[in-house]
Amino acid sequence: MEEKIQKLIKFIEESEHIVFFGGAGVSTESGIPDFRSKDGLYNQHDVQFESFSPEYLLSTDCLHRHPKVFFEFYRQKMNVKGIQPNVTHRVLAELEAKGKLSAVITQNIDGLHQKAGSKRVLELHGTTLKNYCERCRQPYPSDYIFESKEDVPHCEKCEGMIRPDVTLYGENLPEDAFQQAFQEIHRADTLIIAGTSLKVQPAAGLIYEFTGKHLVVMNREPLDISLNGEEDLVFECSMGEVFKKLEDEICL
Ligand code: NAD
Repeated sequence: MEEKIQKLIKFIEESEHIVFFGGAGVSTESGIPDFRSKDGLYNQHDVQFESFSPEYLLSTDCLHRHPKVFFEFYRQKMNVKGIQPNVTHRVLAELEAKGKLSAVITQNIDGLHQKAGSKRVLELHGTTLKNYCERCRQPYPSDYIFESKEDVPHCEKCEGMIRPDVTLYGENLPEDAFQQAFQEIHRADTLIIAGTSLKVQPAAGLIYEFTGKHLVVMNREPLDISLNGEEDLVFECSMGEVFKKLEDEICL
């Protein structure tokens, strides 16, 4: 481990445009379950929702065909109020402040990178911290859905349905964030891929745009990515362990 940490520090020192591409695993150490780990959301078998697949519960079909079920599931599982960033979020914000990290590209919808101080965060799947009316696009405050007394929240102006600004299964990714992520990965000299199963497309496909020098993978489970010997680095452990060491060693 120590040898790998020293190598990672060397990569960071050599790099000018580090890009971090992360998924739900980045926030597990803040207490938010991911999807596909053994204690992830896909493996929690709630009797209440067991007639629906997790993908369906987070789909645009569910929002429109079974809105009560959608909002019940969403309120139970997606509320991140009071949850704090962890060491990974904090160190990434510091690396950006030091001019090393160009962007965090995240599949997460919890806003924890921004809460830790990161400025350039490209959210590929939107955020639970914003809501809007599907019909008139009126924005609603971040807690609106969680605090609304209505099973299915409705717009005060036009009676349209209020929904979270997250990308559901069956919807396109936000074009602007996707294009910017594409460009950031393209110009990166080091790409860190962390806490993602790379199962959700088209987000996961972005990593193939990387043509820079060092690829660093941090994931508890092995990922199917081809690596280039000495120039690349793989940590198969909790990323909190790696970032804690980084924090200590480079005095962030
Ligand atoms: P995933 O659940 O498919 O995969 C997570 C991966 O991270 C797994 O391979 C797991 O082994 C690894 N992992 C978990 N904790 C880790 C840790 N501490 N250190 C290192 N590795 C760790 O998640 P995904 O690939 O991001 O894709 C699923 C979708 O999940 C995304 O689209 C995202 O929107 C959504 N999601 C987001 C949140 C969130 O915002 N926090 C939470 C759950 C799901």
